[in-house]
Amino acid sequence: MFDYQAPEQLLKDKIILVTGAGDGIGKAAALSYAQHGATVILLGRTTKKLEAVYDIIEAQGYPQAAIVPLNLDGVSEHDFTELANTLQNEFGRLDGILHNASLLGERTPLENYDAEIFDQVMKVNVSSQFMLNQALLPLLKAAPKASIVFTTSSVGRKARAYWGAYSISKFATEGMMQLLADELENTSNIRSNAINPGGTRTTMRASAYPAEDPQTLPTPEDIMPVYLYLMGDDSEGINGKSLDAQAT
Ligand code: NDP
Repeated sequence: MFDYQAPEQLLKDKIILVTGAGDGIGKAAALSYAQHGATVILLGRTTKKLEAVYDIIEAQGYPQAAIVPLNLDGVSEHDFTELANTLQNEFGRLDGILHNASLLGERTPLENYDAEIFDQVMKVNVSSQFMLNQALLPLLKAAPKASIVFTTSSVGRKARAYWGAYSISKFATEGMMQLLADELENTSNIRSNAINPGGTRTTMRASAYPAEDPQTLPTPEDIMPVYLYLMGDDSEGINGKSLDAQAT
């Protein structure tokens, strides 16, 4: 596992948005960020799941969270402008974004890949990230130090047969991360990096590898050290890097 022990109050007073915060790795990250002092904005498509995360945060006595129900499949620039306005009025700044929500799409040769599913995966995994960054950059610039964290995958570094739009979308995610890092270097207080979670015990992993025994995999909670490291100020100066959550 990535070797980092976060101070208890690492994210004290930070405002952090997590996409896909209702389940899997996003849920674990939202809870972990809240536990370390952050006010977390929970964005996702299933309100009930977001409410369940909100309730845990409340019950634990962590800083009160906010819920943003949004299906990234159908979003427009207008939705993100509205979100930016709300955050501006409520907080006046944003200290971090974890781009975590993703669709797996089909597992089939590109020759047979359904064009509609291709577009849907690219919309959720790539275009919505672009629009979200564009809308929220002014708020990130208003923070003393801000961190954008993308979620990549091993198939976003080396393509693998039949992984289709998902693999292509993760290459694009690595590209967006690098591009932003280069643009923001020296001109702002914002860092842009990515995390490859590695095989982790979630619904997405189970649908990609149905024959695998989930008990052999680390849980989302196990892989949190790198999520905390890149979101907090201890990683100041790290920009344009793609890190492995399960590096030893
Ligand atoms: P899950 O499928 O368990 O969780 C994905 C989350 O994204 C869910 O909360 C889901 O919402 C949300 N989401 C999906 N589509 C949309 C949408 N259209 N609009 C809003 N939210 C959406 O996946 P993981 O936790 O496993 O994956 C998290 C990230 O880690 C992804 O980027 C994935 O590609 C990456 N990853 C995961 C690996 C693994 O082994 N688990 C390995 C490598 C990378 P809902 O619950 O409502 O469906």
